[in-house]
Amino acid sequence: MDQLELPITLEPMQKFPNVRDLVVDRSEMFEHLKRVHAWIELDGSYDLGPGPRMSQDDVAERYSYSRCMTCGCCLEACPQYGDGNYIGPQAIAQVRYQNMHPSGKMTRDARLEAIMGEDGITACGNAQNCVRACPMSIPLTKAIYEENRETVVHGLFGWLKR
Ligand code: SF4
Ligand code: SF4
Repeated sequence: MDQLELPITLEPMQKFPNVRDLVVDRSEMFEHLKRVHAWIELDGSYDLGPGPRMSQDDVAERYSYSRCMTCGCCLEACPQYGDGNYIGPQAIAQVRYQNMHPSGKMTRDARLEAIMGEDGITACGNAQNCVRACPMSIPLTKAIYEENRETVVHGLFGWLKR
């Protein structure tokens, strides 16, 4: 962990619109979650099949993404995030979280396509500030690496499924 610098300055986050004093409006994070379809369909319109089996490694990795509390610290620390240039590591980690799930895979392509635009995953500069800032120790750079790979494969071969 980085050394604590003293004195500690208390100020509002810079990457979100300030509402008042230390209060910021983080609603764009929730808009990003909608954009990447950060949920699993359970409304009966998909054949879910038998209960999915997952490896313990995948369960452990998914658990770490499930701990995101949408605090925005990773976005605050990310040099690429701001002014709508980049969707940011939090939403990408949720793409990984849902795409790893056997039921989530049914809508995997929609999630990948949501992060394939100019402001998507390729806008990441790999500074790795995000993973250091996350208070929940979420492996954000692992998620970015894996989803980058998935989007490249989807870009090259996704049309074969159509
Ligand atoms: S690796 Fe760097 S550029 Fe990419 S999301 Fe993390 S802080 Fe932002
Ligand atoms: S810093 Fe961690 S917990 Fe907070 S929004 Fe980012 S990924 Fe989620």
